[in-house]
Amino acid sequence: MGELVARVGLGAELLWRYPHELSGGQRQRIAIARALAVRPEFLVLDEPLSALDVSVQAQILNLLDDLQEDLGLTLLFVTHDLRAARYTSHRLGVMYAGRLVEVGPTRLVALRRLHPYTRALFGALPPPPGQSGPESRRLQVVLDGEPPSLLEPPRGCAFFARCPESEPGRCDLEAPELRETHTGDKHRVACWRPHVEGPANEE
Ligand code: SF4
Repeated sequence: MGELVARVGLGAELLWRYPHELSGGQRQRIAIARALAVRPEFLVLDEPLSALDVSVQAQILNLLDDLQEDLGLTLLFVTHDLRAARYTSHRLGVMYAGRLVEVGPTRLVALRRLHPYTRALFGALPPPPGQSGPESRRLQVVLDGEPPSLLEPPRGCAFFARCPESEPGRCDLEAPELRETHTGDKHRVACWRPHVEGPANEE
């Protein structure tokens, strides 16, 4: 175990402390060390950055990046933190009401934002410095309403009641499946009316 805690950047003396004697970042590193003990090829990280302050988040992301590279790990992040997902992932999947609505190379998903929900999520992020002009506002989608009940899912698209692009008579009658898009590279979207244009420049 001493080797594992060193691998995640901690001293072996921490092994003799109780959890309440560790900081949030140290506890997260210990959790990662425990997961590594079984020599995994694939790790699922469920909200690994929640409850950590920004500087510690960056340290944990750097650690995971190093582990991925050194050990050849595949990492699956489950997160509400779109910025972290965007800057750490090779592929990005956007889920709504329990289903993938858009998935593909992170750069393409963030740039093209084919699904209205993907546009709403990215549009809710504060614009990067110097990019708060009309182009940024054009990309914002303000959502009303609530997600549908998962116990009684709607017949058609789950996003229909909140979607500014919806087409009554089609979207509410048949749920769209994930399909390959014109952008290629395994970029898929589940929408009858995906956007065909994205921001002019990558942010
Ligand atoms: S299928 Fe229709 S309702 Fe659903 S996201 Fe696309 S445009 Fe909106």
